[in-house]
Amino acid sequence: MIELRQVGREFRVGDETVHALAEVDLQVPDGDYISVMGPSGSGKSTLLNVLGLLDRPSGGSYRLDGTETTGLAEEQRATLRRDRIGFVFQAFHLVPRLNAADNIALPMLLAGMPPRQREERLREVLESLALSDRAQHRPDQLSGGQRQRVAIGRAIIMRPGLLLADEPTGNLDEHSGQEVIGVLEQLNRDGITLMVVTHDPDIGGRAQRRIRMRDGRIEDDARS
Ligand code: ADP
Ligand code: MG
Repeated sequence: MIELRQVGREFRVGDETVHALAEVDLQVPDGDYISVMGPSGSGKSTLLNVLGLLDRPSGGSYRLDGTETTGLAEEQRATLRRDRIGFVFQAFHLVPRLNAADNIALPMLLAGMPPRQREERLREVLESLALSDRAQHRPDQLSGGQRQRVAIGRAIIMRPGLLLADEPTGNLDEHSGQEVIGVLEQLNRDGITLMVVTHDPDIGGRAQRRIRMRDGRIEDDARS
């Protein structure tokens, strides 16, 4: 469960202040599937970064599963992020020198998980993402859609409750994009809370709940 109350995020650029987020109130129950749309510069990425604990609000309250996160030390935020939140980016952000399996396994390694458990989970995730036969390939040996599936694998390997995706199909052709959205939606059906930023109205329209942003504010929040 996510609860934002009067969240703001300001950036100082020269002698100007940009209100990337302003007075944002948002509640997200577990299991929701939300799309976030809105013009470029409206605050979509800032919202996701705040929710993903990659960025800290300038003001307001952000409770994640009951924990007020805004006052936490960076180390505690990193632990929460590792255990509760998966993040998928438009540009994949894989480690180029590591193969698909090692990219996906990286968070488990950093968390100090025992090798037996790591191998088991890795096999499961590779299989569920149809990547078993690509496990030994490096990112530059994979297609865009396969790279994004590896990035999704890395995002879910710690079994987070929340999956945030910032324009996950932005660098993909139509077919790979559909495939990636299909994978994200399957994860949501399996119980993960899913939030997808997209410019594509067809993709945005698939979500049960659709948020529109404008000038750092939530302009519309519709549920079907
Ligand atoms: P969107 O993802 O909807 O395109 P962003 O959240 O990236 O929008 O940006 C919202 C506003 O905040 C924009 O005006 C952008 O220029 C500004 N902004 C975002 N990040 C920074 C930053 N690190 N420094 C200065 N301004 C920023
Ligand atoms: Mg953005």
